[in-house]
Amino acid sequence: MPIAHPPSETGGQSRDVTANPIFAREPLDIPRFALPAAGLDPETAYQIVHDELMLDGNARLNLATFVTTWAEPSLERLMSESFDKNMIDKDEYPRTADLEARCVRMLADLWHAPDPATALGCSTTGSSEACMLGGLAMKRRWQLARRAAGKSIAQPNIVMGINVQICWEKFANYFDVEARLVPMEGDRLHLGAAEAVELCDENTIGVVAILGSTFDGSYEPVAEICAALDDLAERTGLDIPVHVDGASGAMIAPFCDPTLEWDFRLPRVASINTSGHKYGLVYPGVGWVVWRDRTALPAELVFTVNYLGGQMPTFALNFSRPGGQVIAQYFNFLRLGVDGYRRVQQTCRDVATSLAAAIAELGPFRLLTDGSQLPVFAFTVDPDAPFSAFDVSAALREAGWLVPAYTFPAKREDIAALRIVVRNGFSHDLANLLLDDLRRAVGRLSTQQAPQRGAEASSFAHGAGRASGSAGR
Ligand SMILES: *Cc1c(COP(=O)(O)O)cnc(C)c1O
Repeated sequence: MPIAHPPSETGGQSRDVTANPIFAREPLDIPRFALPAAGLDPETAYQIVHDELMLDGNARLNLATFVTTWAEPSLERLMSESFDKNMIDKDEYPRTADLEARCVRMLADLWHAPDPATALGCSTTGSSEACMLGGLAMKRRWQLARRAAGKSIAQPNIVMGINVQICWEKFANYFDVEARLVPMEGDRLHLGAAEAVELCDENTIGVVAILGSTFDGSYEPVAEICAALDDLAERTGLDIPVHVDGASGAMIAPFCDPTLEWDFRLPRVASINTSGHKYGLVYPGVGWVVWRDRTALPAELVFTVNYLGGQMPTFALNFSRPGGQVIAQYFNFLRLGVDGYRRVQQTCRDVATSLAAAIAELGPFRLLTDGSQLPVFAFTVDPDAPFSAFDVSAALREAGWLVPAYTFPAKREDIAALRIVVRNGFSHDLANLLLDDLRRAVGRLSTQQAPQRGAEASSFAHGAGRASGSAGR
């Protein structure tokens, strides 16, 4: 799915694009699959593209995504003022580069780095790139230590729960690291500390702990995982770092759960990533990764580029990248502050927990989580109900709501769940409207003889459910 296949030349897709411009111009045919020989007036081209995009889902009603679908007009204004700025041109846009550095330092402080002024970090296109960088730093650290000890670097592995987002499997695959995935077991639907340690050995570059599993919104027990690894280090001398994938939770926990220790307060946490475009509240295109100190990020991974003028250190997979998202992140930090973020995230949590409780009361649903960690919850359909989670997803879609249904990975493939992600802008009022539609759908679906749709009906592709084969790719 990440690769754009040529669309099949059947059905409505086989014809050229027949456009009847609203500007009283001559109707015209434009090739669908080849570059038109001549161009069009900008208004005509705009209208054709605009009209086709009307058929996309409504982003605000997309309860599948974690990514920002509403932001303040001032943020949009700043972003549109900076469409022309390339993040990599740090020498040409030194103020933009400085805002990036300030954001890194603010995050290092928020996540309790021992010395935020010397913590290293950078912006990325999202958590996926940030996780690749975090993984690469752990791999290189392990290689350096192994080489220094005269040991083989042939078989690195990384330990994580089977519920990891697909970016971690990509990391393992693209960078030749064996992915050691801890399966789910009974009610444990994410990584456990004992189970993680059991898979560690001298070739383990690190353990990934997720603050906010995409499957159900639950926090993994980061402190317990670190304590178990401390114990392992004491017993065996194996000193294995932890990377916290806080794509969502690293922008929730600091504001809503300030006493929860999941971050650099735990000495074993070497690096943390987050998605600026999730609960960082910026539109798609920005992530962050921060290392606790200089020893966590081998200097040899950092390139110094000088051909844009000036000397510039860079650690990134991309070169060119939009600057507006980083500018918008800094805007949000100023605009909201700690108290503003707390209010936004706590409101999301309040909406999530009350909606989850109301859904549980409808009767045929069982909550897997209740929205009290990430403002995200998952629920299953009673096995006795004459409808499936996939039927419910389809019924809600008729009312405009995009609520994904997906199956869980090994060894809980028996679970088919629905998941709701509450984001800024999804108010109590919208939640009540969703609840009304869900109640109506349940009434109608209850008259069915038997479930109509199975997992094959799901095209959900948010990187949760990868291991089930159906939902994540
Ligand atoms: C969303 C997510 C990712 C990937 O983040 P992007 O910003 O979409 O690249 C990685 N890990 C977790 C836990 C996520 O929720």
